[in-house]
Amino acid sequence: MNTQLSDRVDVERALGGAVSELAAALRGQARPAEAGASLAGTLAEHALTGSVRGCAVCLIDGAQAVRVVGVAGNTGHLAAGSVWELAPPLLDVLSDTNPIQRVEPSASALGQALGVDEDGELVATPLRIVDDAADHAGPLGVMLLVRDRPAPLAEEECAFIEDYSSLAALALHSSHHTGSQVASESMASFLNLVVHDLRAPLTVLSGYVDLLRAGTFGDGPKAWEKPLEMIAGKISETHRLVDDILLAARLESGAMPVSIETLDLGEVITRAAVRSEARAGLAAATIETKRSPQPVLAAADRFQVDRIVDNLINNAINYGGPSPWIRLSVDDAQPPAIRVEDRGVGISPELHSRIFDRFFRVDNRVPGTGFGLHVGRVLAEACGGSLRVESSVLGEGSVFRIELPAATTN
Ligand code: ADP
Repeated sequence: MNTQLSDRVDVERALGGAVSELAAALRGQARPAEAGASLAGTLAEHALTGSVRGCAVCLIDGAQAVRVVGVAGNTGHLAAGSVWELAPPLLDVLSDTNPIQRVEPSASALGQALGVDEDGELVATPLRIVDDAADHAGPLGVMLLVRDRPAPLAEEECAFIEDYSSLAALALHSSHHTGSQVASESMASFLNLVVHDLRAPLTVLSGYVDLLRAGTFGDGPKAWEKPLEMIAGKISETHRLVDDILLAARLESGAMPVSIETLDLGEVITRAAVRSEARAGLAAATIETKRSPQPVLAAADRFQVDRIVDNLINNAINYGGPSPWIRLSVDDAQPPAIRVEDRGVGISPELHSRIFDRFFRVDNRVPGTGFGLHVGRVLAEACGGSLRVESSVLGEGSVFRIELPAATTN
């Protein structure tokens, strides 16, 4: 048995692959059906344990058919994309609540196509969403595993297969929904699961890379400096993506508490400028602050407002051209506002509202997730305020405006 597959690293790799495909699908880079197929392929591939030589993921397609959406390993003549009649014994498998079932291979055309010989075994596991949402009463499909050595499946293999079948069901369910439907409970629990398992190893990785760069393990060759720097950069990019995914899951499940207090917006921008000094230094960016002579008080969540401003500064640096210039200012208006201004690439007028859509990105050459502005807007609204583009001109720069409810002074 390929025992390594039950190792955490492989599970994480599988989840990471599935999630980046999911993210691509949600960004609109792949059509949902294609994304579903490649997700199924990824999951099928990683569901292979040592005693399994081939795996196929099939989706129920209408009332009388199943469609093979992903295959991995040796699945005989069974190809992805083929459509099969939904007949016994598959029909029995799908109506049985048992998560792992044996199927007599010769009893079905599908089994024959998979090329299971008389010493072999066909195991079927229905793809069901565990915390079944109301719109999915029955299973979505079935995962078929071909085994050449029909010794009983080991307990850990069963657990592994069950985990993957529920994961596959969640992934397929999410990838076949678009827009607001994606914000379903199942999506939130899928993301939570993925993020939880990805954060810990990333933290360990970045810790080791930092130690290597600091020379804690002795001086490395000079030629290693650049690659290590690149690895560190990629790790922090992945961290950011994982954090964004976690935040999304929290926002979607409504588990994002806000704690409203009185904030002096002048202090907010001064602190933000200090926090971003290191990042600005790396990008040769200049950050100015322009406070109002009087305190400008708003009632909002300090932590969330800081997060929104940090994200706008990051964007102003990322999309600010070669030596970005950024000005943070406070507008003593009703309602009071923080403005984040840059002289960067600007945004064409028809995109001023679309950039707040989840995963929407204008230019994929700059690394990012297309998530920050969406999250910023949701957080501003959760504080009773708003986030919008005040003005932006292509090639000249942009002004983003966060309005917050005024605090009542006594
Ligand atoms: P990300 O930066 O990760 O792509 P955001 O949600 O923060 O995600 O931004 C969405 C898109 O809006 C960006 O991909 C970028 O094209 C555009 N954008 C955001 N901020 C600016 C800015 N200050 N200037 C120009 N374009 C911007």
